[in-house]
Amino acid sequence: MERDDFQRESTLQAELDAHTSPAAPALYRQEEDGKLQCTACAHRCRLAPDHRGICRMRYHYDGKLYRPSGYVAGLQVDPIEKKPFYHVLPGSGALSFGMLGCNFHCSFCQNWTSSQTLRDRDALAGFQCCTADTIVAGSLKQNVASVVSTYNEPLITADWAMEVFERAHVHPLLCGFVSNGYATPEVLEFLRPVLDFCNVDLKCFSEEGYRCLGGKLKPVLDSIECMLTLGIWVEVVTLVVPGFNDAPGELEQSAAFLASMSADIPWHVTAFYPTYKMTDRPPTSASLIERAWEIGKEAGLHYVYAGNMAGRVGDRENTCCPGCGTLLIARRGFQVLRNLLADGRCPQCNRTIRGRWNKGHDNLSTPSQPGGFSSHFQ
Ligand code: SF4
Repeated sequence: MERDDFQRESTLQAELDAHTSPAAPALYRQEEDGKLQCTACAHRCRLAPDHRGICRMRYHYDGKLYRPSGYVAGLQVDPIEKKPFYHVLPGSGALSFGMLGCNFHCSFCQNWTSSQTLRDRDALAGFQCCTADTIVAGSLKQNVASVVSTYNEPLITADWAMEVFERAHVHPLLCGFVSNGYATPEVLEFLRPVLDFCNVDLKCFSEEGYRCLGGKLKPVLDSIECMLTLGIWVEVVTLVVPGFNDAPGELEQSAAFLASMSADIPWHVTAFYPTYKMTDRPPTSASLIERAWEIGKEAGLHYVYAGNMAGRVGDRENTCCPGCGTLLIARRGFQVLRNLLADGRCPQCNRTIRGRWNKGHDNLSTPSQPGGFSSHFQ
């Protein structure tokens, strides 16, 4: 590393370290050899004193684990459909906030300037100080229905999300994550009282593919199952990247896994555009996205959505009743054109459509089971 780059990175690291607090005790444990094991994500870093985790944002200092606190690198109101969530309060605004850093290093990351901070010298997103109260006050002022931790990987800052979500839940605002799903049972149990919904990015269905990104497949699959068991509403997105995750049978395996968990998991198959370190291939074609959509339907999933192709994929952005086929929610991109759902049901055949259609929190009390969501989801 050049001297200037080293100094710049050291300065940024010092600035970020000034915005940290002791981690939640539930998210690390003391080891017999004096190390601390972080349990905020499936890397489970074992940190000797003065060492940092793979994410570079959590570190061991003087017998305590420290984690980011008191800033945002991104803060804006997005349509909830942009996250994407299609079965959560359709047409509403989501106050979206993010910090810096990630536990993966995906070469096609769309938010790499913030996610790869301290890992890539060109990742130079700024940040601004703020409190959890400020985020929630902003949400109320903007009249949004939910607060979502997104842009960078929220698991590595789960304790900060907890601070925000505990305050948001009082009002009530629904709270969500947009995550790579590289979680642990410990962090999901920690988040369960305040996490209403989560979008999990199932990036591929091969260990080799996950190795390239800096993780493993199995913890992601386990996390999806764990979230369902804990009663967290789950939607899954797969960015279909030509030559990365479209090998014969791979999308079929993803769809089959999701269907084995529950046919009611919405699966978003979205188009890739060249970015960051992956500029060696064309964008995903509409025909490949349509094929991915068909694979999801053939696997038995009730709700499969084509993404990043507004208006170019026929009716594959819409929600239809899996029972009678009636059009329930018509969309174009992030825009809801029509919503005909009647209190979470099909107005034609009265079938319950799974999702989070209301703002109440009372439906978190009863765990659901993989293989069929329990009735607390509408
Ligand atoms: S969040 Fe993950 S990557 Fe970061 S220190 Fe903890 S276990 Fe390691």
